[in-house]
Amino acid sequence: MANAKPIANWSYRREYQRLKPAIDRAVQQVFASGRLILGPQLESFERDFVRFVGARYGIGCNSGTDALFLALRALGVGPGDEVITVSNTAVPTVAAIRATGANPVFVDIDPDYYLMDVEQVAAKITKKTKAILTVHLYGQSVNMAPLQKLARKHKLKIVEDCAQSHGAKYRGKMTGRLGTIGAFSFYPTKVLGAYGDAGMCLTNDAKLAKKLRMLRFYGMAGEYYSEIEGYNSRLDEVQAAILRIKLRTLSEEIDKRRAIARMYDEGLSGVVQTPVVAPWSSHSYYLYVCRHPKRDRIIEKLKHQGIELKIHFPYPIHLMTGYRFLGYQRGDFPQTEAAAKEIFSLPMYPDLPPADVRRVIKAIKQVVS
Ligand SMILES: *Cc1c(COP(=O)(O)O)cnc(C)c1O
Repeated sequence: MANAKPIANWSYRREYQRLKPAIDRAVQQVFASGRLILGPQLESFERDFVRFVGARYGIGCNSGTDALFLALRALGVGPGDEVITVSNTAVPTVAAIRATGANPVFVDIDPDYYLMDVEQVAAKITKKTKAILTVHLYGQSVNMAPLQKLARKHKLKIVEDCAQSHGAKYRGKMTGRLGTIGAFSFYPTKVLGAYGDAGMCLTNDAKLAKKLRMLRFYGMAGEYYSEIEGYNSRLDEVQAAILRIKLRTLSEEIDKRRAIARMYDEGLSGVVQTPVVAPWSSHSYYLYVCRHPKRDRIIEKLKHQGIELKIHFPYPIHLMTGYRFLGYQRGDFPQTEAAAKEIFSLPMYPDLPPADVRRVIKAIKQVVS
């Protein structure tokens, strides 16, 4: 076992070997085309991705963090406003809220899916609340109907953080078209990943689409003249060309993730807590998140066998030094804090060989039993 090949939590190298001819050709074509920024590749990718999700408008930008920030800005969220979200998420969710000058207001997660406990949202709505930022974590949709109802009643906007949920569905509808704006990341590890940074906002509202397009380009509608205060957040032609190629087979790639998840489910049910799929949800398995009280021991033992397990996420944001100023304390979100101590993510990416999946299962069984 000591000599067995390492198994990384994520890697794009096999994927690149598989797609190398198409990707290399596309990149060379962009270099030769004379257009490197905001050109035809981006326009095509925006059209393709909008069609994939079933939304109306797509506005490419530089990252998932930017997509969230631009979405909130387009909705008029600013200093002093409140945005309701969760503490069990990636830091960028909260960084994007803060970048607008608004404050995040957290609710706890549910213990089964580790997603926003939608029952807790109503109690957190104040006069300052402008939006609910739902995070479809790990590849699974939040229960949207109760949030949509609350949003209508209190005239709030819903921004979906879809950085982990490309292709994930809520009652048959893709995430990213369930709120006012859907914000996607195409960071390399994501279900649809670029070979660098990239992101996109989706919306069905023509006015918001126009505003988002201006915000990502210094607030300009035409040239050299800002109509509104904007930023620089663009998705370059090289990344757009690569994303177009990968989008063509995205559905099959998600099916591969689901097949790996089924292998883990069968091998590990009763050994550790495996992911629970919500009744409303079609899971796309960005991450395969397990739970066990002896999580740290499992990670340590598998490390010795060259198997890399990760934790998403080990520290709830409300307890991080960088966010102490928000005024939260240990004990404020018991489910979030308990999960952070016990969850761990198994290796998961479409090109992960079945033999590696079996080795991971066997290694975990050896530690736990
Ligand atoms: C990755 C991620 C982001 C940020 O995306 P970037 O493209 O890295 O800026 C935001 N939210 C969640 C939940 C993420 O996982």
